[in-house]
Amino acid sequence: MAHGIGIVITERIAVAAVSENAIVGRLHTNPEDHTISDSLLGVPAENIAQRIVAMLEQLNLPEPPSHIGVGMPGIVRNGIIEDSPNLVQFKGIHMRELVAGVVAGKLGKVPVYIFNDADVMAAGVAAVRGHLDRLIRVWTLGTGIGYGRYPHGDGIWEAGHSVVTLDPKEHFCGCGGRGHLEGIMGHRAMRLRFMDLEPDEIFEQAAAGDARCVEFAKLWHRALAAATATSIHLDGPGKFFITGFNAGFVNLGLLNEYLHEMVKLSPLQGYSLEVVPGGETVAVIGAAVNALQAAERG
Ligand SMILES: [Zn+2]
Repeated sequence: MAHGIGIVITERIAVAAVSENAIVGRLHTNPEDHTISDSLLGVPAENIAQRIVAMLEQLNLPEPPSHIGVGMPGIVRNGIIEDSPNLVQFKGIHMRELVAGVVAGKLGKVPVYIFNDADVMAAGVAAVRGHLDRLIRVWTLGTGIGYGRYPHGDGIWEAGHSVVTLDPKEHFCGCGGRGHLEGIMGHRAMRLRFMDLEPDEIFEQAAAGDARCVEFAKLWHRALAAATATSIHLDGPGKFFITGFNAGFVNLGLLNEYLHEMVKLSPLQGYSLEVVPGGETVAVIGAAVNALQAAERG
C-alpha cells in the first residue's frame, strides 16, 4: 500500500507516515519532550530541513513515500513562505525546493507540497470525520487564530485577521493590525488585554459573574460570530469546526445566538458549528491528505 508523509512545523516538528487517512506506526516529534515550547525559534530553515530528514529516516519506511505534505504557519504560495510572523527565519524561503532537495539526497525524488498549518488542520479534520467530499472550515484558537479551509485552494485566507470591530483601541493582534479577530480571541492578545489575569481565569471569573470578564466573554464570542458570518457571506454556508487549546472556552449556544443575528439571508442558513479535538496527529494526517490530492491533480 502506497503511503505518504505528513509533516507539521509549529513550535516543534511532527512527522508520520500516513495511509488511508490514518497514521501508520506512530507520530514522531522533535523534540520529543512536550514541555519544550518554541524549540524552533531562530533555528535556520536549513537546519530544520535536516532535522526533518533525520526524522524520516527514523520511520524506517519499507519503500520511499509517494508524496510529502508539510504544514507550517505563515502565508504560503507555490511552495514559498511569503511571510511567517511566528517563524521569521522562513520568510522568503522556497520551502518546497529546500525540503525536496534534502529528501532527494536520502530517499530519491519525492513530490513535496507546502501548506499553511491551519489548512492542513482543516484537511485533517475533514479526513478523520469523513468529510473529504465537502467544504469545511476550521478555526484554531491558540496563541494566534488560525483559519483553515478544505478543500485546499489558491488564496490567502488569513481570516484570523478579519476586521471584526472599527474601534481603533483594539490593537492587540500579533500582526499589529487594528480591530482584528486575533486581537480579541488570541491567547497572546488576551494576556495583553488582562495584564492581571490568565485567559482561563478570565473565563472562570466570567462564569462567576464578574462584570468586566462577562463583557469580555461576550465580545470574544461576538468576534468569532462576526468572522464566521463574513466567511459565510463570502464562501457560503457549511460546516465550521473549532479546535485549538482555547476551544474549551467556546459556548456554542451563545455563538449560535450571535451568528443568527448576523446571517439573515435564507440561502446562507445551512451552517453549523462544532468543537472538535485537533492536535498534531490530525494536522499531520491533513498534510499528507492535501499532498496526495495535489499530487493527483499533477
Ligand atoms: Zn492581525
